[in-house]
Amino acid sequence: MRKAVFLDRDGTLNSDEGHYYIYRAEDFVLNEGVIAGLKILKKHHYLLIVVTNQGGVAKGIYSEADVEKVHEEMKRQLKLGGISIDGIYYCPHHDTVQSCDCRKPSPYMINQAITDFDLDAKQCFMIGDSDRDIEAAKRAGIRAFKIKKNNSIVEICKKIVEDED
Ligand SMILES: [Mg+2]
Ligand SMILES: [Zn+2]
Repeated sequence: MRKAVFLDRDGTLNSDEGHYYIYRAEDFVLNEGVIAGLKILKKHHYLLIVVTNQGGVAKGIYSEADVEKVHEEMKRQLKLGGISIDGIYYCPHHDTVQSCDCRKPSPYMINQAITDFDLDAKQCFMIGDSDRDIEAAKRAGIRAFKIKKNNSIVEICKKIVEDED
């Protein structure tokens, strides 16, 4: 079984400063410390899996094609830093339009990835900036760390690998 770190997207990997939703590639800016932090995790053989709520799709603010474009941009920027993402899961729904099983704080996306990647939940972590991220992780039975919106994840990444050593 493998191990992974689950990563929220907006407010964790990239800045959502000044935006309610990020749906244009040009608005995608990695937060400070993301490359350094993810390098530490990769070095310790963690898979990196993004789990993100994109309720703006259900609200008609942007399309799934826009989400894909932002994800291409995310992967491009991370690749420049030598980082590859192993999986991306997103929920395009929103409670105000139609309820669903996948939107965080549901553990659905995390559980799906645990199955898809044959992960050992005991060796998995979540990093996010919202209570919803933490709640989803708890419900999936994995440990979670909350950062302050758009703050560096480096210290948490160090902590994750230290706990293991
Ligand atoms: Mg967030
Ligand atoms: Zn959903």
